Amino acid sequence: MSVFSAVDFADHEQVVFAADRDTGLRAIIAIHDTSLGPALGGCRIWSYPSEAAAIQDALRLAKGMTYKAAVAGLPLGGGKSVIFGPGDPRQAKTSALMRAMGRAVDRLAGRYIVAEDVGTTVADIEEMRRQSRFVTGRDVAAGGRGNPSPYTARGVFQGIRAAVAHRLGRDTLDGVRVAVQGLGNVGAALCRQLADAGARLVVADMRPEAVAAMVAETKAQAAAVDVIHAAEVDVFAPCALGACLNDRTIPQIRAPIVAGAANNQLAEDRHGDAVRRRGILYAPDYVINAAGLIHVAAEWLGDDQDRVDCRIDGLYDTLRAIFEQAD
Ligand code: NAD
Repeated sequence: MSVFSAVDFADHEQVVFAADRDTGLRAIIAIHDTSLGPALGGCRIWSYPSEAAAIQDALRLAKGMTYKAAVAGLPLGGGKSVIFGPGDPRQAKTSALMRAMGRAVDRLAGRYIVAEDVGTTVADIEEMRRQSRFVTGRDVAAGGRGNPSPYTARGVFQGIRAAVAHRLGRDTLDGVRVAVQGLGNVGAALCRQLADAGARLVVADMRPEAVAAMVAETKAQAAAVDVIHAAEVDVFAPCALGACLNDRTIPQIRAPIVAGAANNQLAEDRHGDAVRRRGILYAPDYVINAAGLIHVAAEWLGDDQDRVDCRIDGLYDTLRAIFEQAD
């Protein structure tokens, strides 16, 4: 495939293809824009069906990080890395593989700062950290601020509140029906906050054990993964992978609001118009899910917790302003 002419290339400053013979590492590091500061973004491990799919994912995610950092008011640019994970991404990793990735990051000498994403954990962050200082999102025991996912969930919760207030004119989530697609680090934490606020949940995940646990914990209703987007609810909250808003799913969505954590929810830019034509209020992914970046960036930038909390809770006002401007 051609990289320069890819739709998502979008004038990336630098795209690096990294490999390591001993561990079999194959990774792509995409640096989209460093105008505001070094490119900070997570490292994703996924079993991509093709190199083209991995390149596209890296480019789209990196560009999204540029927007996310800018709208969150952070002095950072946008970047992202992806590792080709054979089979189940939860099993494919080794410590040596993550250290090889750390060396690949280090060779960029601080232009790219790596953090956690789908398929990576704080333990992987520590492995990369053994090879490079350009790593953030460390374990609390190691002096870092730990897993960003609970913060991301808190930001998404604020975003759902903002969308419900704007679209449904309701100040609380009590009795509001929310369909959560994906019960991973963010989705599960979000479900707990929503349940505490009195929301009624419909949930789906490719891991049946995650669904069973959430049903038991929150009295959520379970749905199949191929129909969760079409659930009859007030809010559809995508918290799995991207491109969940596409030609197939958009006509089937019954919720008047789409507001969730997943990155790159629109399969293509034109799907933003398609969602709007259907009268659905869409919370832009790079705004509503920015709290994870705010939290991780704080570790890198040395921001205190008050500043972090203020930025995260400020996502409510940011989104309300965006919705009003969009109208
Ligand atoms: P995760 O890997 O912990 O969870 C993803 C979950 O989605 C898994 O449980 C997986 O089984 C499930 N899943 C995958 N495909 C699915 C499908 N088709 N239908 C239903 N479930 C499916 O990842 P996470 O950290 O919770 O992140 C979720 C999303 O939020 C990702 O798109 C990620 O990029 C985005 N995000 C995460 C953070 C963060 O702080 N972790 C920050 C910003 C954005």
